[in-house]
Amino acid sequence: MLRAEGVKKEFAGIHALDGASLEVGEGEAIGLVGPNGSGKSTLLSAMSGFLRPDAGEITFDGRRIERMKPWRVAGLGLQRTFQLPQMPEKMTVLEVMLTGARLRRGNSIWTSLLRPGAVAAEQAEAIDRARALLDEMTLLRLANQPAAMISGGQQKLLSLGAALMGSPRMLLLDEPTAGVNPTLRGVLAERLRQVHAAGTALVIVEHDMGFVADLCERCYVLDKGTVITSCAPSKLASDQRVVEAYLGTKAFGKDGAPRRSGAAL
Ligand code: ADP
Ligand code: MG
Repeated sequence: MLRAEGVKKEFAGIHALDGASLEVGEGEAIGLVGPNGSGKSTLLSAMSGFLRPDAGEITFDGRRIERMKPWRVAGLGLQRTFQLPQMPEKMTVLEVMLTGARLRRGNSIWTSLLRPGAVAAEQAEAIDRARALLDEMTLLRLANQPAAMISGGQQKLLSLGAALMGSPRMLLLDEPTAGVNPTLRGVLAERLRQVHAAGTALVIVEHDMGFVADLCERCYVLDKGTVITSCAPSKLASDQRVVEAYLGTKAFGKDGAPRRSGAAL
């Protein structure tokens, strides 16, 4: 469903991506791991239209997307969240949720003029859906608060919620649990499990190997801008290339098992 082939991106002499390739099938849940600076966020940006690669091909559902604008990629059903979400200053939590809705009728001036009732009904539906999602993420009581004022962890949940408003077929998540307290982390894991069970494919960039092992069937490991291997999360610690890539970090415990939360992976 999503295919990246030989993707390259250079920033002032730094090869952030140096021929990265991966494939994600429909409905799969994939971990994307690798040491800091290995190119994970850059690859997510390239795969979601936020960054144009210098070379390589990216296709989603058979369409080339590496030169598409982010909103067009999102329109195809491929959504991403950010490592550090930036909340607009003057929007409420509910309004941020609504930015993720794909409203069809209200976007057409003719429908707006000729069928205002249909537009209003669509908006009311979106608000209901946003409130239901906020409720599932324990954020409903904050619906009318300024989004910039809620905690960092709540903002990460909110950015996931806004991405879910568009009913994506695939979600790219950049460190969803970083800076999220254990309670909200549980909420987040449960939400993602349900989203995946409902058929949405997930690509999760994450340092918490326990979280990856819980949610993902398979992992890609990125090192210095290239994918060095793909394996089950449980096999990571026994893969020599992975261990070498992480040498000097504290990703794995003494017993060779991946550390759970707070791991330096
Ligand atoms: P990761 O998410 O795996 O930690 P990144 O994709 O953020 O890694 O970064 C990969 C490399 O590219 C790093 O060396 C980083 O400093 C560099 N890099 C990323 N984005 C930029 C940018 N906008 N300008 C300059 N260098 C960047
Ligand atoms: Mg990153």
